[in-house]
Amino acid sequence: MADRFMYDRFRIYPDEKQTAAAFQTLGSCRYVYNLYLNSWDTCLRHTGQGMSYTECFQSLIELKKVHTWLRSSDSSALTNSLRNLSRAFQEYSMHRRSYPSFHRKGHRDSYTCTNSGSSIRVLNNGNVILPGLGKTRARGLRFLKGIICSATVIYETTGKWYCSLLYKTAPAVPFPVSGKTVGIDLGIHDYLILSDGTRIPNPRFMDSLAKKLAREQRKLDRKRKANTLYYAEIEGKRIPVFRRPLKDCRNYQKQKKRVARIYEKIRFCRLDFEHKLSTELIKNHDVICMEDLDVRGMLADKRMSRQISDVSWSEFTSMLEYKASWYGRKILRVPRFYPSSQICSVCGSVNNAVKDLSIRTWECPLCHSIHDRDINAARNIKKEALKRAVLHG
Ligand SMILES: [Zn+2]
Repeated sequence: MADRFMYDRFRIYPDEKQTAAAFQTLGSCRYVYNLYLNSWDTCLRHTGQGMSYTECFQSLIELKKVHTWLRSSDSSALTNSLRNLSRAFQEYSMHRRSYPSFHRKGHRDSYTCTNSGSSIRVLNNGNVILPGLGKTRARGLRFLKGIICSATVIYETTGKWYCSLLYKTAPAVPFPVSGKTVGIDLGIHDYLILSDGTRIPNPRFMDSLAKKLAREQRKLDRKRKANTLYYAEIEGKRIPVFRRPLKDCRNYQKQKKRVARIYEKIRFCRLDFEHKLSTELIKNHDVICMEDLDVRGMLADKRMSRQISDVSWSEFTSMLEYKASWYGRKILRVPRFYPSSQICSVCGSVNNAVKDLSIRTWECPLCHSIHDRDINAARNIKKEALKRAVLHG
């Protein structure tokens, strides 16, 4: 078993001086990211070829000689934002994400420092030492044993600061063999459907929090409208012209934080739900079969719009992947164009009529089996994945 990489995310409470230093590093990282995004973009347009991380890195060394203020920030934070940039372009070229865009202030700001020597340390009293900030008050740290790789400092729209430690720790003890294989399918009404017929409903908190979010969002929109003088038409877009700049509207800003707090809560609840569910699935099955979904394709398909966002699905499947590698389990994938819902899992005949998503149950015209749409799909995913695993070894 390989070493495990774990994240530990917790609140930090920087004092006034530390807050100023953290904001400055955020600003420098954003500046570096946007500057090289611009050069990379220009280069790509003119030559058809982007830049490389090394090119940007060399140029950054020269840049720091000119803009000495960049030197006051942790240098690994700056190089890590270059790494993020080159990763963003790489993933774009692999069609795994959309074109990289400029970082805006106040949009989940974060920077990552690499641990060198012991520049990042966890203290016995539960606080941390962070590059550029020094001793920082922390709460909720769970990290016990391991080698710290990096620390990401995050400033949320809610005004709260977080730190996420990435560390390497000893391999996990594999789960005992369960002798079970399962196919899973993304539901439309449920979160997941298993080939053994289990339905895992969408978590309940989603509904109540979504309603609350919609209500507070409407209030925010009303406050924005009340502050709008008129709309200007610029290049076919309606741009609001405000009475006062939004950053000076205290009630608007207060409401914006309220909305951000609900978003934050939804995200944490969702992560918690996904963690529990993925661990449970991994614990109880040796092999898990699932579809290789094209997230971007799903977003484009209006019919597939569902309550739980597609982000959640990719988050969840990546949890399954890494937990499988920790605990000695296997994940098998079925290509994304495999028509799992239209095949009869009993006789294997294809029924095109089931393409219509409103059909919940159907009878196979050949063998007359009665199928629940989702359970049938999950069974097909399991069958197909196992067949492919045998074929390709
Ligand atoms: Zn059939």
